[in-house]
Amino acid sequence: MLRNCADCNQVYVHAVNKLCPDCTKKRNEQFTKVKEYLRQHPMAKIHEVVSETGVELERVREFIDEGRLRIVPIDVTLHCQICGVVIPSGRICSQCELELTGTEEAEQHDQKAKMHLLEFWEKQNRKK
Ligand SMILES: [Zn+2]
Ligand SMILES: [Zn+2]
Repeated sequence: MLRNCADCNQVYVHAVNKLCPDCTKKRNEQFTKVKEYLRQHPMAKIHEVVSETGVELERVREFIDEGRLRIVPIDVTLHCQICGVVIPSGRICSQCELELTGTEEAEQHDQKAKMHLLEFWEKQNRKK
């Protein structure tokens, strides 16, 4: 299957990835840079991260939105994607996470929370 890379538009053969192997590698390197910088400078602001790592602001934001960064720049506020409470990292607060991964008694609530999450992601996708 032929695809165009979402980053550089280069045509490549792959069924799963949105990016060509070159950009996937570059992206991973950028991610590691940002992650390492934040590990060493946990009090850094997002613009410091951008200027110190040389990774574009948009890309750093992507990493944050993807919820892959354990430590995020201090001037970035994250909200739980289910209940909207402010959280230190990731996409979901510990309470909702508990409900999502919770016990069988919590299953009904669990389903509800998952539905909310799905709805949210659908909305997000439509915005793009
Ligand atoms: Zn590419
Ligand atoms: Zn929550």
